[in-house]
Amino acid sequence: MSYSVAIDGPAGAGKSTIAKEIAKKAGFIYVDTGAMYRALALWFLRQGIRAEETEKIEEAITRADVTIVYEEGVQQVLLNGENVTPCLRTEEVGNMASASSVNPSVRLKLVELQRKLAATADVIMDGRDIGTYVLPDADVKVYLTASSACRAKRRFEELKEKDALGDKTLESIRADIEERDYRDMHRDFAPLRQAEDAVLVDSSDMTIPEVVDVVLGMIRK
Ligand code: C5P
Repeated sequence: MSYSVAIDGPAGAGKSTIAKEIAKKAGFIYVDTGAMYRALALWFLRQGIRAEETEKIEEAITRADVTIVYEEGVQQVLLNGENVTPCLRTEEVGNMASASSVNPSVRLKLVELQRKLAATADVIMDGRDIGTYVLPDADVKVYLTASSACRAKRRFEELKEKDALGDKTLESIRADIEERDYRDMHRDFAPLRQAEDAVLVDSSDMTIPEVVDVVLGMIRK
């Protein structure tokens, strides 16, 4: 039986940083489910479809094949055979992923792929609905959060370091984060919430190694 660790939480809580580190230390495969939603978002953007155009979205996903491969242990997302991984981290794609992921048919398409991956390997998977919906029997479930002020500050520093702030301010970044939280927590299908059997970790006043140690301490393989 494969082993699975589910990490859910709002945008900017540090899920991917923590999950990557744990994957390395525990020898698991890291599955970034946000990247899958981003790949479909890119597909919709390329077709000129807006998130509210439900019928067009439902038709477009029948023509989208999302697959995952690993190159030197790093997840690559293929969209109809094209490696789109370098195109996924833009604000435009992130906003489209946030808006289009409310659509149940978008979610169902990706959930199938996520469950298949978890059935074949030991995984640490991060997202919004992993412990509640995708892998309800995960061996370890963590709900990783931090205050929106703290998440906005981290994102602001990250963009500043990359010289990619553009016209964004700390306030606009915080507003964007809160809007995404609201959308993720209030959609009808598989909303973001803490699973009853998930351990809450608030990283607001914790360093990355501290969070990694806490989560590693929960893994009994
Ligand atoms: O985590 P990331 O920012 O890459 O995710 C992009 C968007 O995809 C999120 O804003 C969220 O709305 C959506 N998502 C989701 N369920 C997941 C992972 C991501 O709804 N399991």
